[in-house]
Amino acid sequence: DKKEIIMNVDFNKSPDGLVPAIIQDATTSKVLMLGYMNAEALKKTLESKLVTFFSRSKQRLWTKGEESGNVLNLVDIKLDCDSDSLLIKVNPKGPTCHKGTDTCWNEVNEQSFGFISQLENTITSRINEANSETSYVASLFAKGINKVAQKVGEEAVEVVIEAKDNNDDLFLEESADLLFHYLMLLQAKGFKLNDVVSVLEQREKK
Ligand code: AMP
Ligand code: ZN
Ligand code: ZN
Ligand code: ZN
Repeated sequence: DKKEIIMNVDFNKSPDGLVPAIIQDATTSKVLMLGYMNAEALKKTLESKLVTFFSRSKQRLWTKGEESGNVLNLVDIKLDCDSDSLLIKVNPKGPTCHKGTDTCWNEVNEQSFGFISQLENTITSRINEANSETSYVASLFAKGINKVAQKVGEEAVEVVIEAKDNNDDLFLEESADLLFHYLMLLQAKGFKLNDVVSVLEQREKK
């Protein structure tokens, strides 16, 4: 299995025998860093279960974290469609970037919550268009922050009520209402979900 991966990688496409390795957090799916591997680096990675690159600046094998202790524990390796690049899933120990952040692509600006982020953008554009005749979001927003906050309170109470009943459909409907209005309230206060998640992440680090 290990041998099979090494044998299948097309190291000869590049004259220096290096292939790029994208490092992704196995839990959060964040892209952490990019490094290069030759066959030897890949072999060492598979054997030690610690991600090891061929460093182009050091011109030697470089086990990420060898000085800092911030190693990348190997979880999984995937080859791309034409076998000339690697996607490596890891459990990072400590920050991956030597500048102290979790990822080399400054994580704070990068966080995305998939469909929720799309929904946040829709809310933003409805607010900016401010057509309160056709848009529910715009009309509620136009009534002021207290009205938005009140609506969050109402939806929260509805969630509580449905939590006591045994109707899962209604519970999910009210949960969706609550989340949607909460996202609106955050924007009314000048925030996005990422700001709240950052607070939670900071707590986790303590
Ligand atoms: P480390 O491998 O974490 O012990 O770091 C050793 C050295 O490698 C650091 O002093 C940096 O010069 C470099 N380095 C560490 N992490 C990265 C990274 N994510 N991207 C680029 N260079 C790094
Ligand atoms: Zn490719
Ligand atoms: Zn970095
Ligand atoms: Zn509701």
